[in-house]
Amino acid sequence: MIKLHDKYFKPFISAKEIDTALERLAHEIHNDIGYEIPVFVGVLNGSFMVVSDFVKKYPSPCEVTFIKLASYEGVKSTEDIQRLIGLTQDLKGRTVVVLEDIIDTGNTLAEIHRIFKNEQVKALKIATLFYKPAAYKKDFKLHYVGIEIPNKFIVGFGLDYDGLGRNLPEVYQIKETQHMTNLVLFGPPGAGKGTQANFLKEKYNLIHISTGDVFRFNIKNETALGMLAKSYMDKGELVPDQVTIDMLNAEVEKNADANGFIFDGFPRTNAQADALDKLMDTKDSAISAMIALEVEDDILVKRLLERGKTSGRPDDANESVIRNRIKEYYKKTAVLKDYYSAQNKYFGVDGVGSIDEITERLSNVIDSL
Ligand code: AMP
Repeated sequence: MIKLHDKYFKPFISAKEIDTALERLAHEIHNDIGYEIPVFVGVLNGSFMVVSDFVKKYPSPCEVTFIKLASYEGVKSTEDIQRLIGLTQDLKGRTVVVLEDIIDTGNTLAEIHRIFKNEQVKALKIATLFYKPAAYKKDFKLHYVGIEIPNKFIVGFGLDYDGLGRNLPEVYQIKETQHMTNLVLFGPPGAGKGTQANFLKEKYNLIHISTGDVFRFNIKNETALGMLAKSYMDKGELVPDQVTIDMLNAEVEKNADANGFIFDGFPRTNAQADALDKLMDTKDSAISAMIALEVEDDILVKRLLERGKTSGRPDDANESVIRNRIKEYYKKTAVLKDYYSAQNKYFGVDGVGSIDEITERLSNVIDSL
């Protein structure tokens, strides 16, 4: 990650990928133009690296010139484009290829077309290394496109953020700075995760995702996912990782604008923890902490049998299934304590006491993050 002025940027497109795209552009353009001598027009400042690398790859004689326009102020494309250096040579009858670093709204392109309108060129072609289809608002044809990118601000390889970043040999994408609090609420079955999550989600305005609840919802509605999960859940075994991970990803995507999440019952395996880290990374975020409610086995069994009288959950009704769930927890899931400890994100909290007392213990941890 890098910081330019007040903003953070993460690696997005490598120097190698850029090189490959430019190589392809050079050959596509050469195939179309043949051995006529084209004039490549770079649009300053952003395109200086594109032009430099591109013309080195162009396999036959060509001319190179520049125009200078300015369209960016900060991170927004502005309507107002100034022409700072215009054309300095006669282009009448020539094949001109404009080399752009990036085309987003197309405002600069509109200005380029205005500039060439009276030049009586033979052909005017537009080539761009990067193109943001989601931002493009004009209908000028783009003849050659290197890499299509999403509508996020990028820097590097000639592109700047308020003057900085042009010298970077690769391209970086802006990191959304919104801070999320993402908690993994951890503990054996019956530790009180669900109860506490209900309080914490209100207090901290977080989305609570209980994988067990989502599975039960699917079972109730007899979905394919529910039918698949049921066979495992009835025995107190874990549902296979890929099924669970796909489901969790979908639940997080449903709440793309959340302040953060409480993950309850997930992750339960190292593979799930890795998947969760990757998912958070795509949100420019991370898990803030794993908070574990610690409760002894015999208390858990007593609590779950008690809950089974009213919850209607078949896996709460039978002591041997309960003991199997606790065993699964220690066998497979407790390794996650090491996973998060290694990142200094593990916090153990005594899960025995009144609900209020335990909420307070958990809040103390969250407030200290
Ligand atoms: P819970 O309500 O968290 O106790 O979960 C009930 C059951 O749902 C578990 O015993 C598993 O069969 C299944 N389950 C819930 N979360 C997961 C998960 N992260 N990975 C695999 N299975 C899960």
